[in-house]
Amino acid sequence: MKDLYTIGEAPPLGHVPARMYAQVIRQARFGEPTTSFQQEVIETPEIGADDALVYVMAAGVNYNNVWAGLGSPVDVIGARQKQGEPWDHHIGGSDASGIVWRVGDNVTNVKVGDEVVVHCGSWDIHAPEVLSGEDPMFSPSFKIWGYETTWGSFAQFTKVQAHQCLPKARHLSWEAAAAPTLVGSTAYRMLFGWAPHSVRENDVVLVWGGAGGLGSMAIQLAANVGAKPVAVISNDNKIDFCKRLGAVGCINRKAFDHWGRLPNWEDTEATGKFTAGARAFGKAIWDVLGERRNPRIVFEHPGQDTVPTSQFVCDTGGMIVICAGTTGYNADVDLRYLWMRQKRLQGSHFANDTQASAFNNLVLDGKIDPCLSRTFRFDQTGDCHQLMYENRHPDGNMAILVGAPREGMTTIE
Ligand code: NAP
Repeated sequence: MKDLYTIGEAPPLGHVPARMYAQVIRQARFGEPTTSFQQEVIETPEIGADDALVYVMAAGVNYNNVWAGLGSPVDVIGARQKQGEPWDHHIGGSDASGIVWRVGDNVTNVKVGDEVVVHCGSWDIHAPEVLSGEDPMFSPSFKIWGYETTWGSFAQFTKVQAHQCLPKARHLSWEAAAAPTLVGSTAYRMLFGWAPHSVRENDVVLVWGGAGGLGSMAIQLAANVGAKPVAVISNDNKIDFCKRLGAVGCINRKAFDHWGRLPNWEDTEATGKFTAGARAFGKAIWDVLGERRNPRIVFEHPGQDTVPTSQFVCDTGGMIVICAGTTGYNADVDLRYLWMRQKRLQGSHFANDTQASAFNNLVLDGKIDPCLSRTFRFDQTGDCHQLMYENRHPDGNMAILVGAPREGMTTIE
């Protein structure tokens, strides 16, 4: 038995080496992804009674570890140290497929050898509010594993709470299985977690970034229930991809220039210019649909650049549901439209066990394509995050091979 194995060389099942390879972020390297991620040898994490140690076969790539590497808007390492954690490093990675390698004494839902995917919702399972049956997403203990926790999936082993483990779809490769759980579960809660605004048959759903990670899942989830997703894109070469997933049509946002924060409402000329842009965008939705209907649900995440338009085009009584502010955090809302048309602006964050499992069941049933676009080597972890940072990444979701065999993968140009 060795105390360190090379990438792709699996230890005997259940043997946990003392050290492992990991892609590590440190405060001194905060910056663009190609700088912030560096391969290191580091101790293998120890697990607690409710945890599982998973041998990572492949890891999914998400925007959150672009943010972690930048050290902005939150220094995730400093934030954890303030809460008393001893570690001065961050191992990112909030999506994984792999094999359960060790379990804690209290664990009953998985056993050593199980092939799993991991959802990224973690919380204190003993907290009173969680035990009382409240949505654990509202618990103060809630943390995104691999972003707000130290031992994510960009490593040979990852420490997870056992309830995060879900069955891996047998029909998917390790890398395809690793790709969709974070974005898919997030999209699931956004579209089905905020009654009465759950997506229904025939609803118009406006999906920003339709060819992105979240967007590609939102289109499929909406189309699966017979809704009419309209995808927003920035390049016509994304139209086929979105339509194949179930979008009724696409709008190229580059045809408009009214983005960004709202002008002061007293500035009539500037307000008129914004309104003309937003109205033209609304007409583009009608053109795609072939009828004058507004979105009952607007699936938001760009934030500052797009929220004013989202709230303008959202139907009376509809909902703008938002999980991010990629373009900025000051999202202006013209309150006149919000109250007179009784629209709802709803924040949403990841998903609870039930929602992650419901999403995974759709993957198991083959009803969701994980939209794996491109697979990278472990030493390319910084490179694929850099593509994402520069919005040059391919449509859908990317993955990184860790323990899985390397056949058939593409490499970065
Ligand atoms: P992604 O794959 O990069 O997709 C985002 C899409 O947004 C891009 O494909 C891009 O599409 C579009 N976009 C970029 N700039 C835009 C702009 N100025 N205006 C309108 N659209 C723009 O990223 P993702 O995985 O979908 O994640 C998106 C955001 O959600 C990130 O900030 C991420 O951290 C966050 N997120 C939050 C949660 C949560 O639980 N809270 C979960 C998942 C993701 P086009 O250029 O084609 O328009």
